Amino acid sequence: MAKKKRRGKETIVQCVACGARVPRNKAVLYEAPVTYSAENPEDSNDVIKSTIFQKRWYCISCAKHRGIFEKKKKMLERKRSHRR
Ligand SMILES: [Zn+2]
Repeated sequence: MAKKKRRGKETIVQCVACGARVPRNKAVLYEAPVTYSAENPEDSNDVIKSTIFQKRWYCISCAKHRGIFEKKKKMLERKRSHRR
């Protein structure tokens, strides 16, 4: 894929932690697993659970502060160490 040079048309995302508006290429995407559980109204014994991944954008400083960079690094390291 070729990189397109587009000036001034960066997609702006909002940091969920501090509310700063940052261009997408300078933000960090963190997918947080969110588990929902809801009772089935038709059958009260049946509880529906579903996990979705909520996409959250963080600016660089919030990502550093919250250790998202470290998590990503560790995940990569784990993948590497499992390779034999
Ligand atoms: Zn932020």
